This record gives sequence, C-alpha cells and structure tokens, in this order.
Amino acid sequence: MSTETRLLLDESVSYRLPRSVVPERYDLHLEPEIEAGTFSGTVDIAVNVHTETNEVLLNCLELTIAQAKAIDDKGKELIAKTGLDADNERLKLSFAKSLKPGLWHLQIQFAGILNERLHGFYLSSYSDSSGTKHTLAVTQCEPTDARRIFPCFDEPDFKAVYKISVLVDQDAVALSNSPVQSEKLEKSKDVGTPAAAAKSKKSDKSEKSGKPSKVKAKKLVVFKETMKMSTYLVALVIGKLEATEPIMVDGTPLRVWTPAGKTNLAAFAEKVASASLSFFNRYYGIKYPGEKLDLVAVPDFMFGAMENLGCVIFRENALLLDEKTAAQAELERVADVVAHELAHMWFGDLATMRWWNGLWLNEAFATFMQMLATDEWKPDWKRWDTFGVSRGQAFSTDGLLSTRPIEFTVRRPEDAEGMFDVLTYEKGASVLRMLEQYLGSESYRLGIGHYLNSHKYENTETTDLWDAIEEKSEQPVRQMMDSWIFQGGYPIIHASKEEGGKRWLLTQHRFFYLPEEKRSHVKQESVSRYHVPIMYTAALGKERVTGRVLLTGNSTEITLAGQADWLLLNAGGHGFYRCAYSDDELAALTKNLYTELAPIERFGLLSDLWASTLNGNTDLKTFFSHSYKFKAETDKNVWTVLIGAIVYLNQVVGKGQRSSLKEYVNAMVVPALEKIGISDKTASTKKTSPQDAVKEQLRGMLFACAGTLGESEDVISEAETLYGRYKKSRTSISPALAAAAVSVLAYNGDDAQYKDFVQQFKKATTPQEEERFMYALAGFRDKALLSKTLEKTLNGEIRTQNAPYVVRAVMLNPWGRELAWNFMKENWDIMMKTYPEVMIPRMCEGVTGLISEDLLLDAQSHFEQNDVKQGHRTISQHLEKLAVGVYFKTRERQTLERSWIKH
Ligand SMILES: [Zn+2]
Repeated sequence: MSTETRLLLDESVSYRLPRSVVPERYDLHLEPEIEAGTFSGTVDIAVNVHTETNEVLLNCLELTIAQAKAIDDKGKELIAKTGLDADNERLKLSFAKSLKPGLWHLQIQFAGILNERLHGFYLSSYSDSSGTKHTLAVTQCEPTDARRIFPCFDEPDFKAVYKISVLVDQDAVALSNSPVQSEKLEKSKDVGTPAAAAKSKKSDKSEKSGKPSKVKAKKLVVFKETMKMSTYLVALVIGKLEATEPIMVDGTPLRVWTPAGKTNLAAFAEKVASASLSFFNRYYGIKYPGEKLDLVAVPDFMFGAMENLGCVIFRENALLLDEKTAAQAELERVADVVAHELAHMWFGDLATMRWWNGLWLNEAFATFMQMLATDEWKPDWKRWDTFGVSRGQAFSTDGLLSTRPIEFTVRRPEDAEGMFDVLTYEKGASVLRMLEQYLGSESYRLGIGHYLNSHKYENTETTDLWDAIEEKSEQPVRQMMDSWIFQGGYPIIHASKEEGGKRWLLTQHRFFYLPEEKRSHVKQESVSRYHVPIMYTAALGKERVTGRVLLTGNSTEITLAGQADWLLLNAGGHGFYRCAYSDDELAALTKNLYTELAPIERFGLLSDLWASTLNGNTDLKTFFSHSYKFKAETDKNVWTVLIGAIVYLNQVVGKGQRSSLKEYVNAMVVPALEKIGISDKTASTKKTSPQDAVKEQLRGMLFACAGTLGESEDVISEAETLYGRYKKSRTSISPALAAAAVSVLAYNGDDAQYKDFVQQFKKATTPQEEERFMYALAGFRDKALLSKTLEKTLNGEIRTQNAPYVVRAVMLNPWGRELAWNFMKENWDIMMKTYPEVMIPRMCEGVTGLISEDLLLDAQSHFEQNDVKQGHRTISQHLEKLAVGVYFKTRERQTLERSWIKH
C-alpha cells in the first residue's frame, strides 16, 4: 500500500506550504512580559529559495506583524507587504521584486499574547508554600502551535537548526532545548526609547513620594544551537523553578525542574530517567542526540508530557511523586510517561514523520518502548501483563463500527489532533508488540536501529520502518502490517475441533460490539481480513505443544501430532485479536484454569467472554456462571476485567436491580477480599517486595468495590479507621489502601466528609494526593454535593488541565450522570471557549455512562446541534458505545431483574 501513502501527500497539498522556499535555520529572540500577559519577538529565518518567487508563505496564528523583510547574501534588503490569513493560519510575504534562487534571510518582527489555553506560548501559575504566587510562561507546540509563538514553516519535514534567545526577569529561570550559552544582565534596556519615556512619565505621576520607579532588571539568556529538528519540538519554560543537582548518564547531564519547594518529589523521576536514557542508548545503538536533558514539571499542561528535545515538559502528576506515599499505579504512571518521552528523543525527534498521518507510529512506538524500558528496569512489575489492560481499552473502541484505521489521511491541522487517542497509542503499541513477538525481539531491535541510522535528522514514511525491519528479519513485514494499519477493527478467531482434536480449523471474522441486526446495512465485514500471527498452546495428554501460524485468508488449519484435549489461541496474550471457542472447548480450557493458563491468558479468556456478552453472542446468564470460576483469582489484571464488568453493570442497572448488583459483589468480591484480609494490620508503606505492592493494589481494588457497590459494613468501617490513621500520618497505611478508603468514604459520605475532602484537596502536598481528593469529589452520591463539584470545574478551583476530566467523572457516576450531563449542556459555550480543544472529546466520553434510551436520544441530538471540531469521530464512538449499552440493557432486562447469583 505504498501508493496509498503517496496519495495521502498529494491530497494534502492544498493545505500545505509550498516547497519552493525551505528554512535552514531560525535565529529566534523572544521577550515575554509575564505580568502583562504579552510577548514580542524577532525571527531571522535563513531560507533556501529553490524557485524564483515574489511571495513567501509561512504559518502564523494570533500574532501581529510589525515588519518583515528579506535580505540576500550580499545584504540587499527587500521590504515585504504582509498579509495574515487567520482561517488558513498563514502569513503571506509579498515583495515588489522577486527573490532569486539562493540563500535569503527573512526577518520578521512580531508580538503576541501569552494565552491561558495551554497551547502555543501560555501562562501557568502556582502558589508556593508561603502563599506567594508565581507565574510561568510555557510553550506547547505539537501538533501545530509553534505558529502561535513565531512565524514559521510549521510542518514536521521543514527541519532546521534553532538558535534561541530570551530577555527575561533577572531572577527567572529560562529553559529551552539546548544548554545556556551565555547570560548577561541588561541595564534598563528601555532608557531612551519612547516606550521607556512613557513608562517613566506614568510612574512619576503615580509615585509622588519621589521613589525611583521600579523597573525589573532583565537578563538576556542565549541558548546554544539545537540539532536539526521540527518546529513542533521547540520549547521554552520561563519563571520561578528549582532543579535537582545534575547527574551524568552516559555523558549527558540530566536534571529535574519543579515549581518552588518541590524538588523533594523528583528523586523517583530522576531514577527512571537515568535508567531509561541508558537503556535507550544501548537498545537503539545510537547516543542520545541532545546536549543535555531537562525534565520540567509545570502546574498547567494539556497532555501528560511533551517530548521537546532536551527540554521535556510534564504535568506535575506525570513526573513528581513521593515514593513513600505513592501507590504502585502512580509509580507505574510516572515510569511510563518518563520512559515514553525519552523513547521519543530518537524515535520522533531524531527521525521524524514526514507528515501528521505518521503521528500514530511516533506515538505507538514510544508507547511500545515505554513498556520495554520499564520491563527491563523493573521486571517484577510484569509491565507487559499490565499492558493487557491497556490493550483491552483499545479493543473496546476498535470493536465499534465508528472506529478508524490506525493511519488515515490528514489534510488540515485539526485532523492530526484527532489522532491523539487510544487507537494511536494503545492499539498501535499492541500491534507493534505482536509483530515483535512474532519476529523475535532481536531481529526487531536490529530493524529499529537500522531505521534510525538510515533516517537520522530526516523525515520518514511509515513504510520506511517496515522495510528496515523486513531487511533485518527477512519476513514479509510490510504486507502483514498494512492489514493492521490501513483498516480499522480486529478479528475474532474461532477455533473448532476436528478429528477429535488432532486438527483445528481457525477462521477469522471482524469483531463488532453492535449486534448483527443493528449493522445489517453495513458491508464492512466481508472486506476486513487481517494477517494474524497466531501463537497457540495445545494439551496432548500431559504434554504441552506450542506453535505459531500466520492466518492471512479466511481460514487455516493446525494439525497436531495427536488428539488435543484443549487448544488455547493467543498464547502469551500478545496478539491483537479475540478468540472464541465452543461451549465444550471453553469448559475444557477452564477446567484447570489456574494450573494450565498464565494470568495474561486467563485475562484474555475472561475479557473475550465479557466482550461477547456485550455484543449478545453470549448471554449474561452464561457470563455470570463462568465468572464464578474466577472467584479464586489472585491476579490483579484478571480482576480488572471482573471489576470492569461490575462497574459497567452499575451503569446499566435500574433502581430495582441495584440489590442484585450488591448481592453479586458480596458473593464475588467480598470473599476474595477477605482471603487477602480486609485490612492487613502490618500493611504500611514499607513494601517488602514488588509482589507485595501488586498484592496491595489488588487489595485496594477489591476494597474499593466492596465498600462502594457492595456497601459492605465491615469495609466501610475499616475505611473510616484507615482514613483516621492516614490523616495523622500519610505513611501509616499502604498507598493503595489509602486511595481505596478515600473512594469508599466518598461513596458513602455526607456533607462533612465532602468539606473535609475539599480541604485535603486544597492542601495536598503531592500531585497524586491532590488528584486523589479531586476525583473523590466526583464520587459522592448526594446530588447537592456533586453540584458543588461541578461548579468547581468552572470557577477556577479545579485547574483547566483537570476540569474536563472531573466533569467526565461525574457523568460516569450513575448518581450524578444526569446532573453532569445537564451541567455540560448548559455550560457548553463557556467550556468550548475555556477548555483546550483536544480535551473536549475526552470530556464527552462521559456520555458513554448515560445508559438509557431517553439519554441516548438527547445525546444524539445535542451533538447534532453542537459541532465538536477535531472530535467528530471520537464523538460518534462515544455515542455508539452508549447505544451498545442501551441494546445490552434492553436485551438482558429479564436476567438483570432476577438474582444474579442463583444461575
Ligand atoms: Zn508520545
């Protein structure tokens, strides 16, 4: 499908800048006025003019242009007429005489606003422990917001060298991609200029006491040149920050920067970063391409983090934590994000996608690498098993009719923003893991190294990677991957026994959540065929046989040496497909569940069973009866599926059916919790081993479920005791139990509890604790309290970077869903104006919890009338998930109304 890639580029041409003028180098100078919320700057862009022209097009948005000119290599100047085209985010420079081919400098003076929407050049603020407020100026350029900071050729394949300087307050820290080359104090630069005269006149009037006017001293910070890189990686952070001492990792100085007073939370990130950096140096076989590496935590950030070369910016909870009080999941989150961003320094920063249709590979690959690096650093965490849960999230979106192929045509910038989703990250990484496992990890690694070495400082197409791996592995990689990349969805493989188990027939169909009768008008199934690398295990008496087969057409066969008692597909659990067995085969497989199957395989079996319950191939009664076989389960990830099903059923049940849910939780979850111990008296933050930490995580999950949906009196009263201890000393109980106790108390909590949690949220000393109490405010059942929570999402008490997620959390809480849904509709216009655009579709995920026919109709009509730019597809996915829920509820009405445990 290489022609298809070429086609993508051609179709995009009208939205792209011409290639007749190409930038080589930017000399960029910026002067932010943080208090005023403005900035000004100049840029000198050295460009190569390839064909004679009297017009140059650049990208530019929300900037005012004071002056622009072009200078040739002999110093001859041509003044430009400037035209801004806000719709197409462009600046046109027109010249009276044409620019001859050769080297030119474009010099532009401009000014802009430091915005509050977390993109381009924006403001972020915090109060330190003494209550003093500090405001930072921060940049976020990916995908297409560098153009809000300076006029530029804002497409990833216009790679150039950047020489950046800034004029900032004398006491501010200024960070960019490269190390500081020089710093010089500027003595009142304004003196003698009209602006300074105006300023001093004004202050003379206001300060009659005759005190000298207070002009903040400034300094000029000049950074060293960067390597050749894309505009979307340009970074600046300016303001009051503190740093850890630099440590050297294979010759690269590494530091963590934090808001004032928080460097004590940086030690863990520093350890992860140091381990990952050295892992990647070895894995890729290429030294880290930057001169230094700063990891910077800022109080307001749109994404989890951003891989700016040498200056990676994070939201606080993705970088900072207190190891003594952080739960296992919180440690994993920081390890993941740090490793992910560092993986990008090579894959993304050094070798970069040519255009945004390749964004998925950039992100999928970094997600794959974050797992690999963490797995090497902490093998006990069994990171690839936990990744099964993320793969499950991709399955649930990719099983929809409204899913999309991993790679799709990107014409306009906003198309690229629709790519930051579970299909890019989790599905993409799953497909890469499937490939790696099929080829063998070493030939895969050699292919990656070959790809990076051949394309460093350049731009690539997706197929360049497949070709490089194909060369090293001598396998038909491109053909196999195209079937996963250019069509949406995934197959379900049916295994049927022939000749008493000597032969097994495997067939593939595309999996859908929507029942057949609801999609009869769509003919997609017949065209979807995947190249599925299938790994299997078969039981021939006492012997276990493993093997692999590549299924490329409708069906294939496995012939074994003898008759197998059972056959398990997707052995090892790495494949991106579901499996289906007949009742007899399933019974044989689950007979010795705990002795024969690995946890990840039990996870797959149960997760596939739940999926087929949602789409109606298995009825709910059958699911319940199989679920009892998992009561003795001790694996946290398998429990995630069971608890996920319970939480889903909590959104489906009507008033009269809630007691059945409670009964089921008490039959399934409470005994499992009692087996581990409702509360381990010795459990504290002193984790003796990683296994204990994982067991603690399971205890926390079961505890939270039993104390909320199970309403277990014992658990509720234990939660009170634990929370009492926790308030006195954060380290007196295990972090996993602390989080669970907080959610139990919220669910069962009153007004006083709410006030207490608001206090805890406001005075939290770690980002994790702040987040824990913030989300607890969405977990109450009292509508008046939930209303207060919703108010905080608009009045500034909850930061913009979190507010949309809190709205979503209340919508997913069955006690608050209608309230939150109405709140969102009423405040829609304000939210669209104040929340970052990419967060709107994520907030709307809350509608998947509105499982009733009336609300489905209401949601459909809301989104018909209110367009979510950049999120059309995501919104249709949410609505389809909601529809799947409504069909399920209607279909299973009878089963839901009876007791669930007497089947
Ligand atoms: Zn990434």
